Amino acid sequence: MKNLAGKIVLITGASSGIGEATAKAFAAAGARLLLCARRLDKLAALHPVFIEAGAAAVHEFALDVTDRKAVESTLAALPTEWSEIDVLVNNAGLSRGFGKVYEDDPDNWEEMIDTNVKGLLYVTRAVVPGMVERQRGHVINMGSTAGYMTYANGAVYCASKAAEKAISEGLKIDLMGTPVRVTSVDPGMVETDFSKVRFRGDEERAAKVYQNITPLQPEDIADAIVWAASRPSHVNIHNIVLTTIDQA
Ligand code: NDP
Repeated sequence: MKNLAGKIVLITGASSGIGEATAKAFAAAGARLLLCARRLDKLAALHPVFIEAGAAAVHEFALDVTDRKAVESTLAALPTEWSEIDVLVNNAGLSRGFGKVYEDDPDNWEEMIDTNVKGLLYVTRAVVPGMVERQRGHVINMGSTAGYMTYANGAVYCASKAAEKAISEGLKIDLMGTPVRVTSVDPGMVETDFSKVRFRGDEERAAKVYQNITPLQPEDIADAIVWAASRPSHVNIHNIVLTTIDQA
């Protein structure tokens, strides 16, 4: 992946799961990694891992993508040598709760919509103008098969990923006439902390999600993301849908 060497790649939610694996995969391609999440301690502990994997440089910082003012001020104040972002991976996201719309806790909805929809928009708004100005860049949004097909007890999470799909398509239209690319990567079930977060640390319940299937691994998604980012600049990959072989 010679064309990614030295490129600045911003990954939100790089402290675990798909974001962490994606950081490792871009590191192996020699990219410069700009990594954020709320848990700065986790990112700091991963710093040597990314260097070992081949990253040209790594800069991590704490960011809660739901905090609009923090997103704006933190990204505007990046050190000069990190300010020209080539690839943005809008990965930070979560699911909370698992229940019927008419029974579920509205706090769960707020958290999913604030993170998966508004957080993605805030980061995009802060980064894309620079890409347009420099006439280069690639936005890779983390969607889900949940954005295509609503499943039982998941209406609001599925809605947040349907919104990601619409935003990715809209952004692509907005960027027509510029060389900035937009890709949505849409996985099915991936074995990460996702279910543990959804069930607020209930590991037994989380483990049941992956029973009787061979889930995707975060590295499978990272491979797809790095592949999309490494296509020649005139090639725009619109969507990549990946599911485990056990998932319809
Ligand atoms: P993880 O729980 O392992 O990772 C989620 C990441 O998002 C963490 O690094 C977390 O970091 C970060 N994050 C969550 N909230 C915020 C926030 N407010 N601000 C900044 N960072 C945040 O789960 P996954 O790796 O599975 O999830 C990554 C993405 O993939 C999500 O968008 C998810 O919806 C999507 N996805 C996951 C699937 C799966 O089956 N696992 C399937 C399809 C899509 P921290 O807590 O340190 O802030």
